[in-house]
Amino acid sequence: MAITVATTSTSTSLLDKLWFRVLLGLVLGIAFGFAIAPMTVDSPLGMDGKTFLTTYIKPIGTLFINLIKMIIVPLIFFSLVNGIISMTDADAFKRIGLKAVCAFLMTGAFAVCIGLAFGNIFQPGVGVDMSSLAEMSGGMPAADHIRKETSIIDILVGIVPPNVIRAMAEDNILQVVVFAIFVGVMLNRLGHKVQNLTDFCKSCAVLVFRMIETVIRFSPYGVFALTAWMVGTQGIPILKALLVLVCTVVGALFTQYLLFGLMIIIFARMSPMPFYKKMLEPQLLAFSTSSSKATLSTAMRVVNERIGVSSSSTAFVLPLGASINMDGTAIYLGICALFFSQAFNIPLDSHHYFILVLTATLGSIGAAGIPSGSLFMMGMVFTSVGLPLEGIALIAGVDRILDMMRTTVNITGDSLITMLVDKTEGTFDEKKYHDMSL
Ligand code: ASP
Repeated sequence: MAITVATTSTSTSLLDKLWFRVLLGLVLGIAFGFAIAPMTVDSPLGMDGKTFLTTYIKPIGTLFINLIKMIIVPLIFFSLVNGIISMTDADAFKRIGLKAVCAFLMTGAFAVCIGLAFGNIFQPGVGVDMSSLAEMSGGMPAADHIRKETSIIDILVGIVPPNVIRAMAEDNILQVVVFAIFVGVMLNRLGHKVQNLTDFCKSCAVLVFRMIETVIRFSPYGVFALTAWMVGTQGIPILKALLVLVCTVVGALFTQYLLFGLMIIIFARMSPMPFYKKMLEPQLLAFSTSSSKATLSTAMRVVNERIGVSSSSTAFVLPLGASINMDGTAIYLGICALFFSQAFNIPLDSHHYFILVLTATLGSIGAAGIPSGSLFMMGMVFTSVGLPLEGIALIAGVDRILDMMRTTVNITGDSLITMLVDKTEGTFDEKKYHDMSL
């Protein structure tokens, strides 16, 4: 009896966890797709299995995609404006802030390049048949404005929106980004004169983040529907493709993890071992919560008390990193974009790669440090090079497993840059770093 009670309470608490429900959605979706697909017109469904999946199950997935699409533009706009507004608070830390931001941007862009390299070497999307998913997107209107561009200069000129409303309506993400940066900088300059508007933007950012959390709760159903429909209409090959994608992302994340050690050797001229060892605690927390935000306070304590970073660098650089530096996310966004460009047979040339590095870096900056935060930024990255957003729901099924790993890389990268910046300031306590008893 006691065992029965224990089992019941465990399964109840597991069901409360979103990651578990998403995983359940994936597994049930696979089972349901396989079970329904072979049914014929004479079955109790009154139609054949594939038609049933397409008519009644797919729309649930489409609803999920629409919810994601609905939030992308407001999310990008308000999270960027909000990020810029918050930066004035750090005026006193201008120099250290500039150093940190440059380091974060560089590692972010480099991480995207690692992702793109892995995506090109292992080509996870080649040979994957996405025709039905492409159909669902009803063509790729977002691609048109990008596809017409020919040179980098055209792209650079094209990122300034001649009409902001049109840029938003057409999901022209780069143009929205430029406008948001402009608005944020101007709000900062005007200061208290526009305090009401600044507060309004801050509130909107809170609202949008809450909307994301709500939409994410719907993800188990979206994942179930899309997986059932995809598996039912495409069969085993789609599962194989996702497995290859997962392996590619894991390989790239591991490479980045090793590169962090190399950076310690090159830039700090120290052994990376104490860093790896002492970071285990926040890494485990990042792995289990999939949230940089939730891991931040633990990382701050470890970085300050055990690794030897000064209190001021810890207090300023690490929170900044947790919100704008996500190397694992950057890698993930790069690989996923290549996966779908290969799967949908949408060739990318050098200027698309340039846009990918730009948008995936921006995406990793803008992604909220919460579970599945980057799913929303994926919309921005995909749209910027004309990839259909329908792929996002497919990835959502395996997202949680990858989220655990990329969040671990995210928080490790933040802590590393904080340490390196502190070292250049001369405030780093190297004795503490090497003291393994701490
Ligand atoms: N979960 C990640 C984080 O909190 C963000 C992401 O979805 O990539 O760092």
